[in-house]
Amino acid sequence: MITRFAPSPTGPLHLGHAYSAMLAHDMARDAGGTFLLRIEDIDQSRARPAWEVQITEDLTWLGLTWPTPVMRQSDRLAAYATALDTLWNRGLLYPCTCNRRDILAAASAPQEGAAMGPDGVIYPGTCRHNPRSGPRPSDRALRLDMKLALQTTVKSDSSADLVSTIGDVVLARRDMGTSYHLSVVIDDAAQHITDVVRGADLLEATPIHVLLQHLLGLPTPTYHHHRLIRDAAGKRLAKRDDARAIATYRAEGATPTDIRQMVGLPLASPG
Ligand code: GLU
Ligand code: ZN
Repeated sequence: MITRFAPSPTGPLHLGHAYSAMLAHDMARDAGGTFLLRIEDIDQSRARPAWEVQITEDLTWLGLTWPTPVMRQSDRLAAYATALDTLWNRGLLYPCTCNRRDILAAASAPQEGAAMGPDGVIYPGTCRHNPRSGPRPSDRALRLDMKLALQTTVKSDSSADLVSTIGDVVLARRDMGTSYHLSVVIDDAAQHITDVVRGADLLEATPIHVLLQHLLGLPTPTYHHHRLIRDAAGKRLAKRDDARAIATYRAEGATPTDIRQMVGLPLASPG
């Protein structure tokens, strides 16, 4: 068994992240497997080395260990480009030049507004007829033609309504040359992750990841989606919520055992 924790270094590690990391860590440990850390820093406009340092320190303080060197997504752009080339050469991607406002205007039905998917408003397909021939454009966002993608893969039951519930997701952002969905799939495969442990907030993204695995000939790990840690008012903890940062609890004198208790994890570590 190989599990991972894959934080984006765009803010402090909060209680919800710590829960996710400890669950993934304990699952691997209990099975005699391996727990990996992966730094998801494709968004270079938001990622900060200082956050990575802080996250690493907090995880270590919590008692987690992992092999080094740690995979960093900003080092992996060539692997993402190769996967995009594969999909582009099969005609499954098209360049999109819409901005948020274009998408919202085109997607909004007069009465109901716009339908929402895991990445926000479901793309109305404005650019679907853009040319798909020639070299892959690297200065445009690239979207997956969901309908075509589903037609070329073995249809599983859950894929039936991905066109209406998810639509043509962005696989390469213009400024990044990749996207969360593409990178996470390529890297989970590259690291031979057998079990993905992550929050229920990513439940809706999982069918996208499974589809990409089918398209790229990659294995599908077992997905475990855990409950989200909420604050006393029942509000989901956001990464920018400094009050619930692990660093804050540490500064206030909390112990790793206190943190485990707060999120309802077993305290005793066997062995
Ligand atoms: N970097 C992602 C996050 O912080 C990881 C998501 C995942 O585990 O797939 O939300
Ligand atoms: Zn477009």
